[in-house]
Amino acid sequence: MERPLLRCMACDKIRLLDDLAGLCECGGLLLVEYDLERIGNSLSPDDLKSRSFTMWRYHELLPVRDRNAIVSLGEGGTPLVRLQSLEKSLPLAELWVKREEQNPTGSFKARGFSAAVSLLQERGIHRVAVPSNGNAASALAAYAARAKMEAYVFVPRDCPGLIVEECRYYGARTYQVDGLIHDAGAIAEAGKNEQRWFNVATLREPGRVEGKKTMGLELAEQLGWQLPDVVVYPTGGGSGVIGMWKAFHELRQLGWVQNELPRFVSVQETGCQPLVDAIAAGAKEPPGVKEVTSSPTGMRVPHPPAGGLLLSILRETNGTAIAVSADEIGDAQRMFGACGISASPEGAAVLAGLVRLCDQGFVRPADKVVLFNTAHALKYLPWTVEPPLQIIKTYEEWCQIAEKEADEQ
Ligand SMILES: *Cc1c(COP(=O)(O)O)cnc(C)c1O
Ligand SMILES: [Zn+2]
Repeated sequence: MERPLLRCMACDKIRLLDDLAGLCECGGLLLVEYDLERIGNSLSPDDLKSRSFTMWRYHELLPVRDRNAIVSLGEGGTPLVRLQSLEKSLPLAELWVKREEQNPTGSFKARGFSAAVSLLQERGIHRVAVPSNGNAASALAAYAARAKMEAYVFVPRDCPGLIVEECRYYGARTYQVDGLIHDAGAIAEAGKNEQRWFNVATLREPGRVEGKKTMGLELAEQLGWQLPDVVVYPTGGGSGVIGMWKAFHELRQLGWVQNELPRFVSVQETGCQPLVDAIAAGAKEPPGVKEVTSSPTGMRVPHPPAGGLLLSILRETNGTAIAVSADEIGDAQRMFGACGISASPEGAAVLAGLVRLCDQGFVRPADKVVLFNTAHALKYLPWTVEPPLQIIKTYEEWCQIAEKEADEQ
């Protein structure tokens, strides 16, 4: 089978996928490119029907070529549930929620790490690290455990305690960082050469976007190869939106869907809303966030690494970005609860955003809308990490702790 390639989103340069580069020399984002004509000649939607409902049913559209290297815990194949009562009250033609909390590790991050860790497995890499607000850390921890890799995860000190415990449960070396996700990212990056770990941070390698792409493929298949009018997604680093946008373009190129791309709506929480501010200002790149005051969720990313591309996707699809408050998130959690669905703060933010967009007339009664509940509500319940971890600030401090840990072993 032919190897997929990488194409730079900024300068169009093509390179091999082999070294799993995330960025081009020009700074542009590298995305996997497939020979869709060839794939379309040998694969049709009907061929999928007999395959098991995990994200690997789309393996031709995923970059792993050695099927034995696939690291799977049963990710993908999540239910798409219709919310009739909310449909009536908002009102909307159709309202669906994609229940991504049913993935292994309780969040959609499992998809990205199944693909990324498989690519690393294919190349014999056995030490990995990631900075994360929480769910990426536990997903990497689980897939690394599955693949017998050593995992190092770095989360902000206010990361939900249960998620910290979850990382340790999978055996990851888990560290809390005094700062935000980019401070954690600086440590993962600083140790890359010396510690010889592969940094699987958002958009640093091509696998995570490809895994998240399967949300879009699945959604289209579940809707009978039709795309909805609006997709509302809680956005932080942006690879979920980039992945689904890529999925829909690939499906159109394959001829499996005919309709236009949905309007993409990114939802953020007030207090860390770089995308919302950029859309309001008509800016090409998200502005820096001076003071971050939002809660520790997957949406709290003050400097989204491919912010420019993300904004262009929102604009290209006539979408938008909207920020909701912690109170609105709480209300929306209860609205979801009244439908029998437990939503994470991120998932609830999306419903809160939709309510506002209906009020504003951006989303209209004739629209068919899909919400994403990206994680399990229970991961966010209050929990005290015992014994507490030492909080680190820099890579040098991490080195000191790591030395002590090695002595103790
Ligand atoms: C990471 C995360 C997000 C943000 O997703 P991106 O693809 O990074 O924008 C949203 N919700 C949850 C639960 C997350 O863990
Ligand atoms: Zn380039």
